[in-house]
Amino acid sequence: MLERTLAIIKPDAVKKQVIGDIIKHYESTGLHPVSIQMMSLTKRVAEGFYAVHRERPFFESLTSFMTSGPVVVLVLEGEDAIKRNRTLMGATDSAKAEPGTIRAAHGTSIEENAVHGSDSPETAHFEIGYFFPAMDLT
Ligand code: ADP
Ligand code: MG
Repeated sequence: MLERTLAIIKPDAVKKQVIGDIIKHYESTGLHPVSIQMMSLTKRVAEGFYAVHRERPFFESLTSFMTSGPVVVLVLEGEDAIKRNRTLMGATDSAKAEPGTIRAAHGTSIEENAVHGSDSPETAHFEIGYFFPAMDLT
C-alpha cells in the first residue's frame, strides 16, 4: 500500500553533515521525499512531538538533545513506507542497529541515533499533521 511516513534527521546527524547520505538511503530504497523542512525545534515543539514519552526517564534528555541544533523534517512516500523506513533505520540503540541501516552508519548511542521514523499509521498521521498541518492527509 502506498503510504506516507514522517522522518526526522536529528541534530547529531545534521552536525555530522550526513543529511545527503541519509536522503540517499531513503531514495535508494524507494522512499521518496514529498515534503522537506529544515528547522530548529523549540523545547515546546519537541515536547509535544514526543508527548507519548513524557513519563519516560529519558524525556528531558531527549527533548534537550532534539533542540540542541537544527533538524530536517521529511515526509517520505512509498510502498509500505512506515514499516520499510523502520527497517531502514535500524534498532533504537545505534550499537545494536543491523549493518546497512542508517543508525548503524550514523548513530552514536541509544539517544543520539541519527533519525526518527513513525512507527504505525496512527503515529504517521499525527506526526505528519504536527509538522505539516497544511498537508492533505486523506
Ligand atoms: P524509536 O526512535 O526507535 O522509535 P523510541 O520511540 O523508543 O525509539 O524512543 C524515542 C527516542 O528517544 C529514541 O529514538 C532515542 O533518541 C530516545 N531514547 C529511547 N530510549 C532511550 C534511552 N533508554 N535513553 C536515552 N534516550 C532514549
Ligand atoms: Mg518511537
